[in-house]
This record gives sequence, C-alpha cells and structure tokens, in this order.
Amino acid sequence: MVVVIGAGATGLGVAWDLALRGVEVTVIDQSGIGFGTSGRFHGLLHSGARYAVTDPTAAQDCREENARLRTIASGAIEDTGGIFVRTQDDDPAFETAWLEGCNRAGIPATRLDPQKVRMRYPEVTGRIASAYTVPDGVLEGFHLMQLVAQDITAHQGTVLTHHHVSAVTTVDGRVAGVTAEGPGGQVHLHCDAVVNAAGPWAGRVAELLGDPIPMHLSYGLMLLFAQRKFPLVINRMKAPGDGDIFVPHQRVTILGTTDIAQDSPEAPAIVQSEVERLMTLGRELIPSLDSWRVLRAFTGVRPLYEGETHAASSREVSRDFKVIDHHARHGPAGAFSVVGGKWTTFRLMAERTSDMVAGYLKVSSPCVTAEARLGSPPAKMAAPESVLCECERVCASDLRAVKGSVDEWRTATWFSMGPCQGTFCAHRVTALRHAVFPEEDPDEMIRHLRAERAKGMIPVLWGANAREYALQQAVRFQTLEEGESL
Ligand SMILES: Cc1cc2nc3c(=O)[nH]c(=O)nc-3n(C[C@H](O)[C@H](O)[C@H](O)COP(=O)(O)OP(=O)(O)OC[C@H]3O[C@@H](n4cnc5c(N)ncnc54)[C@H](O)[C@@H]3O)c2cc1C
Repeated sequence: MVVVIGAGATGLGVAWDLALRGVEVTVIDQSGIGFGTSGRFHGLLHSGARYAVTDPTAAQDCREENARLRTIASGAIEDTGGIFVRTQDDDPAFETAWLEGCNRAGIPATRLDPQKVRMRYPEVTGRIASAYTVPDGVLEGFHLMQLVAQDITAHQGTVLTHHHVSAVTTVDGRVAGVTAEGPGGQVHLHCDAVVNAAGPWAGRVAELLGDPIPMHLSYGLMLLFAQRKFPLVINRMKAPGDGDIFVPHQRVTILGTTDIAQDSPEAPAIVQSEVERLMTLGRELIPSLDSWRVLRAFTGVRPLYEGETHAASSREVSRDFKVIDHHARHGPAGAFSVVGGKWTTFRLMAERTSDMVAGYLKVSSPCVTAEARLGSPPAKMAAPESVLCECERVCASDLRAVKGSVDEWRTATWFSMGPCQGTFCAHRVTALRHAVFPEEDPDEMIRHLRAERAKGMIPVLWGANAREYALQQAVRFQTLEEGESL
C-alpha cells in the first residue's frame, strides 16, 4: 500500500498512475480536492513557448504533455490556441532567442501579420511589433482533477479528503504508516511507501519524513474579469514576468500574474498595491483594461524546488520538477517527494515518481497513463429544471452529483463564481445543502460562502464590481435582514 500526501494535480496524478499499475493506493488531502495551487492557477495548458528561452527542459516537457493531455483528457481541455505578441517596447533580441528556443523544443510558432492581429483583436495594443501563434490551450483544472479522482476510485484506489497527515511512522528505517487527523478523529494507515506531493506544503511534509528539502515559495496574484474577451490565450513576448498573460477560461478572462517570495505555504491576503501594479502591467498589452468588468482577485502559491542553488528571485528558479528518494539522502526507505513543475506536466511528474516508487516496491507493471482515456466532465442540465445559479447555469442535480463539502460543490460547478459572486445563489444553494445534509449549520455555511466571495471582491472594488458588492450588501442587510456585517 502507498499513501500519497496531497490531492492536487500532482498527488492525484501519482495515485492515478499507481492505481493503474495495480498498486493499492490512498491519496490524502487536508482539505478538498484542488484546495492548494491546483485550484488557484491561470488554467493555461502551456505550449512550452513561455519557457522556450529561460527553461528549455520545462518547455519541452510542456510541449509533449500538452499534446498528450489533449488526447487522454480531451473533455477537460479547450483547444483555444494562443498568440505571443512582442510590443514595440519589448526587446527584439528576445524574439530571436525565443524563436530559436521554440525551434529547439519542437514548439510550432507561426508568424502572423501584426496588422491582421490588430484588426482581429482591436483591444490588444496598437504597438504590436510582431506576433506568432502557438499551441497553447485551456485546462479545466477542477474537472480534470475530478476525472482523475474518479479513475483512481474505479481502479480500487482511495481518495481521502479532509484529513491532515501529521506523522509518518517508520520501522527499522523503512516507512511503515501515516497518521492523519480527520473530522472523526485520528486515523492510522499502514503503508510500505509514502509520496509527498504536498505542493507548497512539501517542505513541511518533508520535515515529517526527517529529511527537509529546500523549497522556494512565491505567490502569484491573478485578476478575474467577467467576460471571455478573447477566444485564445494572449501572451506578451518577453522573458517570463509579471502581468503578461490573458487566459480565456469558460466565460471569464484571467490576467496573471505576479511572483513574490513568501515563507508560508498558505495563500496570502491580497495587497491593494499589488492589484494596482498588475492592472498597470496588464494595460501595457490591453490599454482598454479599465473598461473590463473585474470580478475578483485571487492568489496561488508556487511550490518551486530551490535545489542547491539559491536564486535571487522566484523567476530564476526552474519550472522543471524534481523527484526525490529520501533514502538516498537522510530519510527513511520508502519515502519520496515530488516538487516543482507545472499543472501541464502533472502526468509526466506522476510517471517519473511512480517509476521510482514501483522500483522500490518491485512492481514491474509499467506506466499506462500516457495512453489512458479520462471520461468527459458530467453533462450539464440533462433535464429541464430550475437553475440555482444563473451566472454559471448550475441546477440542483449538478450540485447533488458532486460528493463533498460546499466548497467542493462550488469548485466542481462554479456556482457563486460568476458575475453576481453569490449574491442570489449562495442562499439557494445553502437551502439545498441544508435539505441534503441537515446536520450542517446553514448559518455557518452562508457566512463561509459570503466571506469566501468577499475575500476576492474587496481588493477590486471599482466599477460594476463595486455596484455588485453594494447590491450584495443591500440584499443581505435590507432584504434578508441579516444581522451582522462581514
Ligand atoms: C499564480 C500561479 C499561476 C499558475 N498558472 C499555471 C498555468 O496556467 N498552467 C500550469 O500548467 N501551471 C500553472 N501554475 C503552476 C501549477 O498550478 C502548480 O505547479 C500545480 O498546481 C502544483 O500542484 P501540486 O499538486 O503539486 O500542489 P497543490 O495543488 O498545492 O496540492 C498540494 C495538496 O497537498 C495538500 N496537503 C498539504 N499538506 C498536507 C498534509 N499534511 N496532509 C494532507 N494534505 C496536505 C494540500 O491541501 C494541497 O491540496 C501556476 C501557479 C501559480 C502559483
């Protein structure tokens, strides 16, 4: 039996790979699926072009996995394509290096006529010096994680959420089990190997293994706008930096990101000046950005592996990944960590990690995930019924079909994540939730949903978003006569 710590993209990928090899596996998360960085990213299925100059290995891995995921998980990928735009303010020498890098990594980059780009996408700056298409795409992270989790269960694996791993036990220098704290108390699981796929928390979990690893944590801020402004990903052609990507994600657009070093794995509170800085950078590519309707701000923490070198800034730390056999360092036998990488490369990271675990367990079955097929996300609105969340068109049956907490209902269906940010649907969903789970406290739930939305809305209170927030407050305090303020 193998225990994987962390049900983000990486941990789910490892558990999936092992389950498909016939290994008994349990993946554990302290919260719900995708609670960490895997639920807080741009949603970009990288073509690799972003890393063509600075990170050739990551570029090539992204290019290969991009093509694979389109085949094995087509229902969770949108083939939008992407463009790289060099503005007249960006270094022309970078374009030469970028083209060479794309060529080396096998990333097809086709030159476009800047005039035609301007006509087709009039909101992009008029100062385009050159532009190229690349095979970027959009990755539905929550859907893909649900699909992987379903396939783990279908192959006799277990996904155990809301359990925090607090200890790893060893016998004679070999991993023998883990202890986790859950809602029903402490759980002890016997296992032959443990995989630390705890993302930004990987440093803390490595301490439980008695073999600390050097992590470099940095957080990125992203802004969510109400409309799908472009049909494809728009990247700025320069060394990866701040505020240089716009990703169309379902009916919204995400602008990202920043890169600020921090010590804690938890996503930090959003700083107003950072929001303003990201808007300023975004305007360089999209001068009309202020006219877009902002919905909310959110952050994710990068679980980068520092290695032996000490980079001056997060941008210098490789986006490549590392699989660590702790026994080869100072830890027990049967303990492994997988850190760094990208969402796009989660399958490859899982394959390399599982190869190492399978070698340790003397399991000879090979990795089969590169040829596997993950089903489509559940079809929406099979039968006519009333809609609980108009913005995201979510019905009661969509919610009932999702196992887990109200946050898992939210991330699986996107209820309350559209333009109204839960103004109307939060109460309707709470009522449904109360009917299905009468033991849960509806007052506590509505407070939680409100606080979760307010966290992202308050840092971007301007324009229509400010009016929406005022309406939300009016609904709460005047119509529903709720007694307290957030
Ligand atoms: C701002 C930003 C934007 C990004 N955009 C993109 C993008 O567009 N495309 C792309 O390919 N990549 C992107 N990335 C990178 C990508 O999101 C991450 O590399 C990836 O999601 C990491 O996944 P993970 O599973 O390793 O970590 P996580 O998703 O953080 O998962 C770790 C899990 O471990 C759990 N855990 C931790 N400690 C314990 C414990 N003791 N017990 C039980 N559970 C525990 C946590 O709850 C968490 O769910 C972005 C990253 C950032 C920060």
